[in-house]
Amino acid sequence: MAETQLVPRGIKDPRVLEAMRSVPRHVFAEESNLLSAYEDMALPIGDGQTISQPYMVAVMTELLELKGTEKVLEIGTGSGYQGAVLAELAKEVYTIERISGLADRAAEKFRALYYDTVHVRTGDGTLGWPEEAPFDRIIITAASPRVPEPLIEQLALNGILVMPIGSRFSQQLLKITRTENGLKEEYHTPCVFVPLIGKFGWEKDSS
Ligand code: SAH
Repeated sequence: MAETQLVPRGIKDPRVLEAMRSVPRHVFAEESNLLSAYEDMALPIGDGQTISQPYMVAVMTELLELKGTEKVLEIGTGSGYQGAVLAELAKEVYTIERISGLADRAAEKFRALYYDTVHVRTGDGTLGWPEEAPFDRIIITAASPRVPEPLIEQLALNGILVMPIGSRFSQQLLKITRTENGLKEEYHTPCVFVPLIGKFGWEKDSS
């Protein structure tokens, strides 16, 4: 997967490539998709949600510039795959999922694979996790028309936030860095994610 899908498309960070090699994506896929677990596509994980394409997981992870010391917040736990990749590369991972069935299944997988630095919570991730803030990195793996204000507030100085921003069916990755002089914004790869549904995202699921 790393050699055929990631390196040719420009993923360079050796730590990201190593993490993508070591996390068993098939464990996070549904049984009916086991044979496609390492293919170049998103996969359904139940409840109308998806596990992102490996390339998109790698791009977002690379944009986070993780060194190993960071406290990371993920919004949209889904299958838990992205959370496991983050756990390989950061110190602590806090991940929030609005659908409790998905959160429970992901938590079980983290336990089974001994990812004990990952903390899972069910709820509206657009509100963040204020008790654990600030976060050095924030990754939102669902699409929103705007950056949820509470998440900006929970981003540490020199922190990086990465998320898909745009309309319901087409977005672009946005990377925000909090510097001493304010927020710096950069737009990256076009993408398509399922909607971020919550107080500071889309109002309700009409997809
Ligand atoms: N990172 C996941 C893929 C996530 S798909 C993985 O690696 O498998 C996006 C997820 O975001 C879905 O599971 C969806 O239920 C969840 N989601 C949408 N809005 C949310 C919100 N406000 N808070 C938390 N999770 C949300």
